[in-house]
Amino acid sequence: MTAARIGVTGVVRIWENHERAGVNGAYLRAVSAAGGAALVLTQLSAPDSAEVLLDGLDGLVLTGGEDVDPSLYFSERSTKLGATDTDRDHFEVALFREAQRRGLPVLAICRGIQLVNVALGGTLWQDLPSERPGKVRHAEAGARDLRTHSINVAPESRLREALGRATLEVNSFHHQAIRDLAPALVATAWSDDDLIEGVESEPGDAWLLGVQWHPEEMHADRRAPERGLFSALVREAVSGSGRSSARSLH
Ligand code: MN
Repeated sequence: MTAARIGVTGVVRIWENHERAGVNGAYLRAVSAAGGAALVLTQLSAPDSAEVLLDGLDGLVLTGGEDVDPSLYFSERSTKLGATDTDRDHFEVALFREAQRRGLPVLAICRGIQLVNVALGGTLWQDLPSERPGKVRHAEAGARDLRTHSINVAPESRLREALGRATLEVNSFHHQAIRDLAPALVATAWSDDDLIEGVESEPGDAWLLGVQWHPEEMHADRRAPERGLFSALVREAVSGSGRSSARSLH
């Protein structure tokens, strides 16, 4: 067992008529399969607590879920917008900013890649079928580990190195996606309709990978290239462990 402690953001929802906080277990299984120890973080942990929560953590996974509120990127709401949770939006933006400030590695998945793009000044397609119809279906309803469309990965990118693949068939459960890419991000994967499916930070900046598909759902397949994403996160977290104890910076 490594010493890497990975924060994994979760959802706050009503289950069985009661407010509960949790996360899709696949994220936790994928982190632990890569040798990390996962802790779930939600806005109920304590609002405005990003700094305290990141003390002692070595990496962060921003997970899937609700649509990001368009007010965060100064756009009007589409009538096709799905459920939003602005408390979660603000909590995760604060976590992401603090993680960046500390140089912690971040893996951002689905809503996560969208949230990172918005936090850094980018915008989103609010609903792909109505705003950007194309030949690729991105909102599939089948099994969560079913690979339904292909992506092409940029050479010499962190994503390419972590996946070990130039092309990949991926699962796809999103109706939103990156529209205008944030200036600090580099696009490193695209589907055949030229939608951005992967982003990362510039070389030399804090390690950041974002993907629009759901690599965590492949956790049970030991040969899945997606394992490399979680392994890379944990490797970065181990090599930088200790840097999150940044309270002395204040
Ligand atoms: Mn897709």
